[in-house]
Amino acid sequence: FLEGKRALVTGSTSGIGLATARALRAEGAEVVLNGFGHAGEIAKLCEELGATHSGADLTDVAQVEAMMAEAGDIDILVNNAGMQHVAPVEEFPVAKWDTIIALNLTAAFHTTRLAVPAMKRKGWGRIINTASAHSKVASPFKSAYNAAKHGLDGFTKTIGLELAEFGITANCISPGYVWTPLVENQIPDTMKARNMTREQVINDVLLVKQATKKFVQPAEIGALAVFLCRDEMQNVNGANWSIDGGWTAE
Ligand code: NAD
Repeated sequence: FLEGKRALVTGSTSGIGLATARALRAEGAEVVLNGFGHAGEIAKLCEELGATHSGADLTDVAQVEAMMAEAGDIDILVNNAGMQHVAPVEEFPVAKWDTIIALNLTAAFHTTRLAVPAMKRKGWGRIINTASAHSKVASPFKSAYNAAKHGLDGFTKTIGLELAEFGITANCISPGYVWTPLVENQIPDTMKARNMTREQVINDVLLVKQATKKFVQPAEIGALAVFLCRDEMQNVNGANWSIDGGWTAE
């Protein structure tokens, strides 16, 4: 049902973004990929999805602007690229703070401001921002990430209001822990910050609040993104969709 629509999914060379790109493609959308990775693997993904790819570093405004100019009119914008860093606030590297705010929050502002004119012209658009359970609740040692994700929720509500009369919706998808490299890579630092073993981090930190006791699968996020693109979802706007096994219900 998405034939004739063009989707840009940021951070789609891995994890949730890749699963979302695959799900949108399966419904017929034309897909533009973005993210880092090995050139050969990215070329394979482009072939699999009939997609183009931008290697823009989204922490750099000029690169975001070049990506958006190259991508053309975007009907479905998925702001998904993000990174994590785990450290106590007084030791939190200043450069990491700046990068995380730039990638997890500011990049979504830039892609949105550049995508909206075409969406308004066409009278249809979907903006889907991958936030996090950490856009609703916090946990320690993730100050930059939690600040950025709470900010992304506020940004999404704001543009949802601004764009509502133009056939454009803006929503957040907020996963709990999804088994991707982003989660796997934070285990060593969490072990250090909390003085725990790997098994303790998985069971007593990552899955402790996820009532299902299961990691969310990337494809489940892709399915929700596709659902939000349906015309029947035209009044679902400015919402923040938890997909966290019940974590934030408590
Ligand atoms: P991932 O590490 O598997 O993928 C991140 C993607 O972003 C990759 O394609 C990477 O190349 C790209 N990327 C990284 N830095 C970039 C930059 N500067 N410019 C452009 N692209 C860049 O991570 P993931 O787990 O799939 O996370 C995707 C999103 O989901 C993030 O916003 C993350 O915060 C959010 N999220 C993840 C989880 C989880 O448990 N994995 C939970 C909640 C929210």
